[in-house]
Amino acid sequence: MSPRVLILGAGFGGLEVATVLSEEFGEDIEITLIDSSDTFVFGFAKLDVLFGKKEPEAVKFPYADVAKPGVRYVRETIASIDPERLEVTTDAGRHSADHLVIALGADYDFDATPGLAEVDSEFYSVAGAERLAKVLPEFEGGRALVGVCGAPFKCPPAPSECALMLHDYLVERGIRDQSSISVAIPFETPVPPSPGTSEALLEAFAERDIDYVGGSPVVSLDPDRRVAVNGAGRELPFDLFLGVPKHRAPDVVIETGLTVDGYISVKPSDLKTSAANVWAVGDVTTVGVPKAGVFSEGAGRVAARSIAAEIRGEPAPGPYDGLGSCYIEFGFGNVARVDVDFLSGPKPTGTFQAPSETLAAEKAEFGSTRASRWFGR
Ligand SMILES: Cc1cc2nc3c(=O)[nH]c(=O)nc-3n(C[C@H](O)[C@H](O)[C@H](O)COP(=O)(O)OP(=O)(O)OC[C@H]3O[C@@H](n4cnc5c(N)ncnc54)[C@H](O)[C@@H]3O)c2cc1C
Repeated sequence: MSPRVLILGAGFGGLEVATVLSEEFGEDIEITLIDSSDTFVFGFAKLDVLFGKKEPEAVKFPYADVAKPGVRYVRETIASIDPERLEVTTDAGRHSADHLVIALGADYDFDATPGLAEVDSEFYSVAGAERLAKVLPEFEGGRALVGVCGAPFKCPPAPSECALMLHDYLVERGIRDQSSISVAIPFETPVPPSPGTSEALLEAFAERDIDYVGGSPVVSLDPDRRVAVNGAGRELPFDLFLGVPKHRAPDVVIETGLTVDGYISVKPSDLKTSAANVWAVGDVTTVGVPKAGVFSEGAGRVAARSIAAEIRGEPAPGPYDGLGSCYIEFGFGNVARVDVDFLSGPKPTGTFQAPSETLAAEKAEFGSTRASRWFGR
């Protein structure tokens, strides 16, 4: 009988696990890939949708296009996970496996920030970016605030990218002079592991008259007074709020008992959890790297190789290296890159490459190689 692998969540992490295992075993494996959504969207595409650069339908990749030997995608919502019995219950029934991979990402905790749900203007989900794309054209100038409600949050450079892209958007609409832009982030500097990246972002903010309010998250919003308050008690007035909600592991993951300090703790050697034959990858874990697709994908690769080695009774492959490159939009078609090493030294280190059109082309290539690898496009 073929080994049965259940992959929970078809984001960067889950898609990469499915792809590597399919490459390794072809039809000699039974992989079930479960996701509640019918389409995948790259995180960075949400910014394109938000600023009207792309239509929502143009950035969605249907999971029905995942055509890989040994892989079956099912659209179901996971209601419970039993890590001891390797069983999963969904809205459509039950699945059991020999190997289980949890790749369910991070959810948004709107209730953690009083006033956030009423203001209703986050750009971190596809639905939120789509909604705000309709609101932005109605903004006629005023105080714009990009506010992050807690750390850790996905893609640490994304709020800074949002502020720079908002600047371009307002310039193009001819209302930048009537507007102010502030960006409030929990960290002292925009991208702490890479001082070069932080310096370049702070310089870009200064050139564009964007106010950087670092060191404290937005902890509450007053929808009537249109004021956000950060953890240091500072009031940040806004006419337009572009928000990043506090993140948390999905409830169904917390209920497994596998989480420590909110997320699943895994071993960097093989991405195994404390339960036998259960792996976890990506934003749902804590493994010493930030929450970003490129790291989820890298972890997915290592988990898949670890599963393959167990199936074949071979020694475990090399550990997860915690290396990743992130592309950062600097506005007007220029993209920078930061290469970060999170696990090899005593503390993370990052190397910054200045914004250029060449790196913009490289970022497009990053997206198209994944689209082709995962969706055959
Ligand atoms: C604005 C923005 C810009 C970003 N830019 C970048 C970037 O440039 N580079 C980069 O590397 N990263 C970027 N990211 C971050 C990146 O999108 C995430 O870190 C990445 O998607 C995490 O991958 P994952 O596989 O761990 O989880 P996810 O991609 O979140 O996948 C989890 C999957 O699980 C599914 N799921 C959850 N709960 C259930 C359930 N109960 N039942 C069934 N299915 C469920 C979800 O539908 C989802 O498909 C960005 C994010 C945002 C918001």
